[in-house]
Amino acid sequence: DSKRRARNGWQDFSAALAEQQQQRLQMETHLRRAVDNREFKLVYQPQVELATGRIIGAEALIRWRNDTLGEMRPDHFIGHAENTGDIVRIGGWVLREACQQMRRWRDEGLPIERVAVNVSYRQFLAEDLAETVSEALASAGLPGDALELEFTERVLIEDAPDTLTTFAGLRMLGVLLSIDDFGEGYSALNYLRRLPIHGLKLSQQFLTGVPHNTSDVAICQAVAGIAQSLGLGLVAEGVENDAQRQFLIRLGVKIGQGFLFAPGLTPDELALRIAHHEPSRAHA
Ligand code: C2E
Ligand code: MG
Ligand code: MG
Ligand code: MG
Repeated sequence: DSKRRARNGWQDFSAALAEQQQQRLQMETHLRRAVDNREFKLVYQPQVELATGRIIGAEALIRWRNDTLGEMRPDHFIGHAENTGDIVRIGGWVLREACQQMRRWRDEGLPIERVAVNVSYRQFLAEDLAETVSEALASAGLPGDALELEFTERVLIEDAPDTLTTFAGLRMLGVLLSIDDFGEGYSALNYLRRLPIHGLKLSQQFLTGVPHNTSDVAICQAVAGIAQSLGLGLVAEGVENDAQRQFLIRLGVKIGQGFLFAPGLTPDELALRIAHHEPSRAHA
């Protein structure tokens, strides 16, 4: 009887595995055509001055809606797109679209300093990223400092031969460079000296326990210290409540984003918030 149960267990397991495989193939098939089918859009999460609530910029976050698969969050498909290589085309679309949107906002007279775009390590490996970025800026008629690129420590781990050249090229365009989810990955601090970066984004993972969890507090303090002593900007992500906001202000962090202020917004929603100087909930 236990043998049969073991056999059934194995069959369940391999059936589940086969179904998973099937789902992955299905997603990858749809993913391949998603740019051409115009299935992606971007939402924009405000980056806010913590002390005043003023919106200074926004991070572009991709959303995917497919007729068969429904709506999907990036955490469910970016990894697949990285494995298949489709992320290079998708990422190119994101860059162009975010720059075009920035152009539209500026044409409307909206005082927004910059838009931040997430860049996959695969985009560093696969193409001349500086050239792609340069073209996206030029066709939108934007200066480099209207754009910030966020990348994770994965870029540094993969360490492609051209990585430093690419960074130098991006830096020459005037683009702002930030390390996303700082502290989550492999934080060999020596690369911070080698790279021409402007800022760090404190991983929201460490903010969740603030202000009660003493190790989270200690890590936030340490990251703020690193940023300050290296002269790097620091943006806090995942700010969900006012206690966290107060804590960050005391740490000297100037800019944050999170549900306390706003989730990802449509371009019109963001424009309305800026235009009306809508006070953030933190000040209500
Ligand atoms: P990320 O770049 O670290 O973006 C922050 C994520 O946290 C976003 O999730 C955002 O919606 C969410 N978030 C914002 N505020 C809060 C908060 O107060 N609390 C909590 N719990 N979460 C908050 P999202 O949009 O699902 O994106 C997930 C990740 O997918 C991003 O993390 C980024 O790594 C990746 N991603 C998103 N868009 C793109 C893209 O265009 N290209 C690439 N390569 N990756 C992208
Ligand atoms: Mg990001
Ligand atoms: Mg992040
Ligand atoms: Mg993240």
